[in-house]
Amino acid sequence: MRKIIVQKFGGTSVADTEKIKNVAKIVIKEKQNGNDVVVVVSAMGHTTDYLVKMAKDLCANPSGREMDMLLSTGEGVSIALLAMAIQAQGYDAVSFNAMQIGIMTENVHSKARIVDIKTEKLKENLKEGKIIVVAGFQGVTEDGEITTLGRGGSDTSAVALAAALNAERCDIYTDVEGVYTTDPRVVPNASRLDEISYEEMLELAHAGANVLHPRSVETAKQFNVPMRVRSSFKLDNLGTLILGVEKMEIYKPVTGVAADLSQARIVVCDVPDKPGVAAKIFSRLAKENISVDMIIQSYARKVSNTNDIAFTIDSVDLNKTVEALEALKSEIGATGDIQVDENIAKVSIVGAGMIDRPGVASAMFETLAEQNINIRMISTSEIKISCLVDKCDAQQAVKALHKVFELESNEIAEVKGDLPNV
Ligand code: ADP
Ligand code: ASP
Ligand code: MG
Repeated sequence: MRKIIVQKFGGTSVADTEKIKNVAKIVIKEKQNGNDVVVVVSAMGHTTDYLVKMAKDLCANPSGREMDMLLSTGEGVSIALLAMAIQAQGYDAVSFNAMQIGIMTENVHSKARIVDIKTEKLKENLKEGKIIVVAGFQGVTEDGEITTLGRGGSDTSAVALAAALNAERCDIYTDVEGVYTTDPRVVPNASRLDEISYEEMLELAHAGANVLHPRSVETAKQFNVPMRVRSSFKLDNLGTLILGVEKMEIYKPVTGVAADLSQARIVVCDVPDKPGVAAKIFSRLAKENISVDMIIQSYARKVSNTNDIAFTIDSVDLNKTVEALEALKSEIGATGDIQVDENIAKVSIVGAGMIDRPGVASAMFETLAEQNINIRMISTSEIKISCLVDKCDAQQAVKALHKVFELESNEIAEVKGDLPNV
């Protein structure tokens, strides 16, 4: 049996026709190695950001359906161009969008989850020797509605395809040489990791290391798909392997540092201190498909018998959240304001090496204190500690933590592509 390799190329890797030619070469090389190849591509360069900007210029609160109709078009352009580039180099290629294949998702706009992938068409075309180019980021519901998987979701399309096809590996080609100890755009001498476990990568991705879409790592872990992150532009190293095994001994308590700048903090003030209030708030948000991250409930004030409930959400859900809470206020008997703060960031340290090792949290807090950075909320898991800080302090916090936990290398990381200018 021939092995199937799934390759995914992000926006920077397909930003212009020269870069698409380069991608075609990498794809053909894998085919020449004797493997069947399925390629997943993102929209070219910052296309998705421009599409979002145009929508916002026209409508303050565009409907989820029309946003998905719009954003899914970006990937449609790159699949056809890449298939042409591969054909021009003498190989047989065919492009498909999610609807043509049957990348089935739940009926949710802007962050749908994949529920099933039909493999018939893919297998047929692979059998005919074709290289298949698939649009990332998009899906279709049972009713034929177009959905998208959330920003950065092409990684998840790729891993889900790899799982459905029982592929040998899923290679994520991007604009850096792998997964680093922190974002090399923030800390240029961050260290590239040769390997990282699914668990640590999942925490890092959730903590804001947007090199991988969190759900891609979740899917890889669930279906045991080996993943590799490597550069499209520099092929002389294999990047970072993400897999299930932990190293026998872990010497460093922290593997990576990340910041998430896209959170917002909400405080529901003066809610009655009685059973069922938190349940009502969070079940209402769950019904609206809003994910909540950090949560703090203050001690009840003795005189008024009320407390405050503070939590963080993804900023994209901010309007929806405030609307839902305003509607709920009288039902739960909240007498205070609903306060919103978008000027915050979550800074996290992640590492399997912190398990059973005392002093890691205190070292984090001391480091932030030395930098005169105020901590607004704290949350922990077995292998992660997160602090909510002011947005303007996030970069300084990442740099200081990266240094204190001895993650620096002697080399400067190479980063291609620029930041969106929209
Ligand atoms: P693509 O368009 O290929 O999907 P992304 O922009 O989504 O690329 O992800 C790559 C970017 O992720 C890098 O350019 C880098 O700035 C950022 N990044 C954040 N954290 C990390 C990390 N720990 N390691 C590597 N890159 C990171
Ligand atoms: N094009 C989409 C985005 O920019 C999906 C992706 O790149 O993974 O978010
Ligand atoms: Mg990405």
